[in-house]
Amino acid sequence: MKIIDGKAVAESIKSEIAQKVAQRIKQGKKKPHLAAVLVGNDGASETYVKSKVKNCEKVGFDSTLLHFEESISEEELLKEIKKLNNNSAINGFIVQLPLPKHIDEQKIIQAILPEKDVDGFHPVNVGKMVLEIPSLLPATPYGITLLLKHYNIPTEGKNCVVIGRSHIVGTPMSILMSRNTYPGNATVTLAHSRTKNLKEICRQADILIAAVGKAKLITEDMIKDGAVVIDVGIHRIKDDSKKSGYRLVGDVDFENVAQKCSYITPVPGGVGPMTITALLQNTLTACEMQEK
Ligand code: NAD
Repeated sequence: MKIIDGKAVAESIKSEIAQKVAQRIKQGKKKPHLAAVLVGNDGASETYVKSKVKNCEKVGFDSTLLHFEESISEEELLKEIKKLNNNSAINGFIVQLPLPKHIDEQKIIQAILPEKDVDGFHPVNVGKMVLEIPSLLPATPYGITLLLKHYNIPTEGKNCVVIGRSHIVGTPMSILMSRNTYPGNATVTLAHSRTKNLKEICRQADILIAAVGKAKLITEDMIKDGAVVIDVGIHRIKDDSKKSGYRLVGDVDFENVAQKCSYITPVPGGVGPMTITALLQNTLTACEMQEK
């Protein structure tokens, strides 16, 4: 069994991005610029956004953090999106989700210029992904494909089961794994909350990708011997032995499942670091596309 070291892969891709940025500067080109929009004071969202901004600095990007009050209206936020769309200094931006209840997330996502949608959530980018037209791909699934590629994990003709059909992880992941390319060409099953016989379906999986949001739902009896297991879930569970009072676990019961796998991603240190790396890669891609 091999543990997929997302942290190391992320660092190696980030250093490649940093080299490309240094090269751009030598050629007199601008630094890619990512903006992040944060609404309200949700602790987890703030941590994610700050980490995204910090990572931008590490690879030499410019970054801007726009933090708005929880009470901002949908109309005001749409105006801010428009400003970012029209600001030629900014190559890409993200709106950290979830947004407060009074704001329609889809309306906000659809207001983002597809060329600057570095989260890859805009319908135009989702459509291009389905049609296999080069586009900005959703960060977490894109990051997972980068991991599979880095470890040369075969995907062609494999049974791939994706659990979870969210628009940001499960659904795009299932599309990427079925596309006619590498990583891809897998026979994909998309399982969700209404799926019957989840255990039997999972046991058929050569590659199992769990994006369910339920701590340790995936147990060893659901795993085929030698399967590749990718765990997207992130959960804080109480742990008094830790200074913080909690530890992070995934959707997969790592200790027991790992025994049966050929490859597995840990939580933390698996998929998580790749999401930010994919976002940086998308920002560089957006910047390059805008120069064409
Ligand atoms: P979500 O809640 O939007 O979607 C969960 C999906 O799981 C739904 O489609 C639902 O149908 C399905 N589901 C729920 N219960 C199920 C069950 N018992 N059996 C089968 N399917 C079931 O969640 P999400 O945004 O896709 O996130 C999933 C997990 O991944 C969360 O823990 C989240 O924190 C984590 N996440 C991690 C990253 C990262 O960078 N590592 C990024 C995004 C999300």
